Amino acid sequence: MLLQAKDFYVREWAKNGCLLVGDAAHCASPAGAVGVSLSVTTAVVAADVIYDALRDRDCSAGRLAAVQKCRDREIRSIHSMQDRAAKLMFSSSPFIRTWAPMFISFAAKTKLIRFVQRRLLVLPEPLAIHERFMF
Ligand SMILES: Cc1cc2nc3c(=O)[nH]c(=O)nc-3n(C[C@H](O)[C@H](O)[C@H](O)COP(=O)(O)OP(=O)(O)OC[C@H]3O[C@@H](n4cnc5c(N)ncnc54)[C@H](O)[C@@H]3O)c2cc1C
Repeated sequence: MLLQAKDFYVREWAKNGCLLVGDAAHCASPAGAVGVSLSVTTAVVAADVIYDALRDRDCSAGRLAAVQKCRDREIRSIHSMQDRAAKLMFSSSPFIRTWAPMFISFAAKTKLIRFVQRRLLVLPEPLAIHERFMF
């Protein structure tokens, strides 16, 4: 059986007392292998928001929605990049479809692919982590 390789984006991640994070909120396609990074980043943002919400005894949807607000741009931009990469791959000639995976697998063994990944798929600024979560 083939593994489904689709991205999705849940329209609203928060309800009163409930917050979706990681793949449950935004699943990425395999292009670029970024699922873990996106999920961990959302979890880091969520930790801050949930901490404050619990402290203030306000876990309303409005309050928890801050996580989606903060992550929306990056997730959508990565999804759109993955979408473009998939279209390029599937609309290209059989020659490219055959050789591109081999080239990518070869490039993965070099520093080139890591450089491209960092330039395209990693946040331009370090994530602002509250000092209470630093060890
Ligand atoms: C085949 C494959 C290869 C991948 N390769 C890569 C890769 O190379 N690089 C990369 O960055 N990403 C990769 N990903 C994506 C990556 O695995 C996910 O994006 C990431 O694991 C999402 O993390 P998460 O914590 O949101 O969800 P998960 O890692 O799916 O964690 C969810 C957890 O919740 C548990 N759970 C589910 N339902 C319940 C319930 N009702 N009660 C209690 N627990 C429950 C599950 O058992 C699971 O442990 C790959 C995914 C797949 C499927």
